[in-house]
Amino acid sequence: MPNIENIIIIGSGPAGLTAAIYTGRADLKPLMIEGYQSGGQLMLTTEVENYPGFPTGIMGPELMENFRKQAERFGTRFITQDVTRVELCRGGVTPPTHAVWVGDQKYEAKAVIISTGASARLIGLESEKRLMGHGVSTCATCDGAFFRNQNIAVVGGGDSAMEEANFLTRFASKVYVIHRRDQLRASKIMQERAFANKKIEFIWNAAVTEVLGDKEVTGVRIKDFKTNQEKTVDLTGLFVAIGHDPNTKLFSGQIESDKNGYLLTHDGSKTNVPGVFACGDVQDHVYRQAITASGSGCMAALDAERYLESLHS
Ligand code: NAP
Repeated sequence: MPNIENIIIIGSGPAGLTAAIYTGRADLKPLMIEGYQSGGQLMLTTEVENYPGFPTGIMGPELMENFRKQAERFGTRFITQDVTRVELCRGGVTPPTHAVWVGDQKYEAKAVIISTGASARLIGLESEKRLMGHGVSTCATCDGAFFRNQNIAVVGGGDSAMEEANFLTRFASKVYVIHRRDQLRASKIMQERAFANKKIEFIWNAAVTEVLGDKEVTGVRIKDFKTNQEKTVDLTGLFVAIGHDPNTKLFSGQIESDKNGYLLTHDGSKTNVPGVFACGDVQDHVYRQAITASGSGCMAALDAERYLESLHS
């Protein structure tokens, strides 16, 4: 008879680690499968100035290390590997359990909390990766304030890119929007807002082919698709806003999701499978903040706790 865990938490960003802190404090001894690259999207940012409780800010990786230590303090056990397969039970077995595999190793639990997050789509350049957190960012809300009175650019033509470009004009002197076509995908209202903003300048039919800079971003090389010409634009920040993808491949066909793959939750953090809960960016494409992810991680923990109690009543 395999050892059956109370709760397995998959994913270790703010949502998952908050769920671990709460379920740990409830003495449920959660098992977290945190992934090889633990900590989530905050591991890719530098200073976090908007997480309450840190009046002078905190570095993203340090904040996540603190989350992890707090979860460990209350008895969370960690497996620093990626989940490779899940088999979520749909009832009919008593007690209902869910199986989670890490390679050949199978773990079973009465409840599962999914907090696998979302990943920002990237252009795919080596220089973009190297300068991530050093001028390249995927989050204007997180990093915009570092670019006061500077020239920066946003890549993308959707609502996210327009929203980020408009937001960034609060700080930057100029925001270029670099888009690969000559028409925006963004909704009319977002387009109009961007067109009316004097600090925004559009660069159409162009792609960023290189992010320039040794330790910090100093510019970008862009290619004009119409003329095939390349040119350099001097700037200190590049915000990549070409969409996010929820990390939900593991659950495909088992958990209901929307058309973009985000897991659907109801009554708090419940999914369509009893005993399986989802929190954080894997089910939220609207707010996408560390603090909202943490809040939903707390909700998932409380919902899971109540679910486990109901199994014994
Ligand atoms: P999106 O609508 O998928 O737009 C992505 C944009 O990035 C598109 O313009 C696309 O170009 C471009 N793009 C994609 N891959 C690229 C690449 N490899 N290189 C260069 N450009 C690339 O994504 P989103 O803007 O994040 O929006 C996602 C969803 O959230 C949408 O439904 C949106 O309406 C919603 N949203 C709403 C709000 C709001 O209402 N306030 C704010 C943000 C997001 P093409 O146009 O050529 O495909």
